[in-house]
Amino acid sequence: MKRIIADAEQCMSSGMCALTAPDHFDQDDEDGRVVLLAEEAEDGDGDVADAVRLCPAAALRLEPA
Ligand code: SF4
Repeated sequence: MKRIIADAEQCMSSGMCALTAPDHFDQDDEDGRVVLLAEEAEDGDGDVADAVRLCPAAALRLEPA
């Protein structure tokens, strides 16, 4: 299990995470910044790992839970 860390201050509202892993990420209705829908991800959850890798603002990371 991994803990998902999202830095909304660093987020540039691209929406890649919500597209890539919609079970774990959404965007704020007002400013489009990342909103976490789940704070943890399974180790094998490739969608979440992809979202972390693809974030253009490097605002997402995974840590050991
Ligand atoms: S992919 Fe990164 S920059 Fe884009 S909305 Fe998600 S956290 Fe923000």
